[in-house]
Amino acid sequence: MADKRDYYEVLGVQKGASEDEIKKAYRKVAKKYHPDINPDNKEAEAKFKEATEAYEVLSDSGKRQRYDQFGHAGVDPNFAGAPGGAYGNPFGGAVDFDFGDIFSSFFGGAGGGRRSANPNAPRQGSDIETSVVIDFMEAAKGCKKQINVNVVESCPDCGGSGAAKGTSPKTCPQCGGRGRVVTQQRTPFGVMSSESACPQCRGTGRIIETPCRTCGGGGQVRRSQQIGINIPAGIDDRQYFTVHGKGNAGKNGGPAGDLRVAVHVRPHPFFERDEYDLYVDVPITFAQATLGAEVEIPTLDGTETYRLKEGTQPGETIRLRGKGFPVPNRRGLAGDEIVRFVVEVPTHLSAAQRKKVRDLDEAMNEKNHSVGKTFREKLKKAFNK
Ligand SMILES: [Zn+2]
Ligand SMILES: [Zn+2]
Repeated sequence: MADKRDYYEVLGVQKGASEDEIKKAYRKVAKKYHPDINPDNKEAEAKFKEATEAYEVLSDSGKRQRYDQFGHAGVDPNFAGAPGGAYGNPFGGAVDFDFGDIFSSFFGGAGGGRRSANPNAPRQGSDIETSVVIDFMEAAKGCKKQINVNVVESCPDCGGSGAAKGTSPKTCPQCGGRGRVVTQQRTPFGVMSSESACPQCRGTGRIIETPCRTCGGGGQVRRSQQIGINIPAGIDDRQYFTVHGKGNAGKNGGPAGDLRVAVHVRPHPFFERDEYDLYVDVPITFAQATLGAEVEIPTLDGTETYRLKEGTQPGETIRLRGKGFPVPNRRGLAGDEIVRFVVEVPTHLSAAQRKKVRDLDEAMNEKNHSVGKTFREKLKKAFNK
């Protein structure tokens, strides 16, 4: 994620490129690396995906603006430290491409059909998205959760063949298993022959005579499945994480899709979080602030004793290095904890208490209240000349 290339660089255009230039540039790159032209070429596939992702962002004026402003963090919901407001709906920010749409408009439209129309080609299963709610502390420490998802699986009764138990698919008699048929037509110019998908087996080359009753012959079933997931420590509200290979099953031996989990974190009663830093307000008394004291401060690991210095001012903060949230999957890297001391001014005083406070106030001199003294001097200068 961190090594993502700049989208403009991926498409080979200038930052201020027009919509048309971006479209043209993408079309050029996509044609060069299209999977149909480069079968089984992982590098081409990666290049193609990269270009498609770049195009998906740069062709959308809203996404492009966010990308220009925040970089990848502005448009990628997985990007650690993305600005919080960039994706209100956790599912809305997902980068998903509609390959079909892009290609029908770029490469000849529906009439020409996709070149990879072979129904027996391995196909990857689709991704599943779901969400999970966890506690603040679970986000801090990481946790294991069991979640239920509706997932497409290979049919357990026929092993995905679609044929009923004890039977197996037969070779299609019309095409002899080729999946394609040649039709010949006599025309004034001679015999024209054309090839098309076999109508009897729909191009698969196989006929299922007795379909499996569990899956109806499709070879796949949808089932509720319980999946154990390990949520990494440090994950933030509205972040996603991906479990590879736990999405819907593929077809014809293709790999399964991914499971994408949007995480929602419940707020904590006194901790707050900003990126990887942890914030907490600790109330102290007037006497503790004045004289110094040992106070208990909460951390993600429990409470700690802290030696408060004499003359601590209201709102004074201390920073505990590395006591914030861990950065997921980056060993040893963590944010800080920022503790703010809030001086509680006493209320509901009894008559005796009032007298003591008054006596104390009278016993104070300018040296005890140097901030007030400096302020009054400045005030004098500003208004009395
Ligand atoms: Zn079946
Ligand atoms: Zn056939």
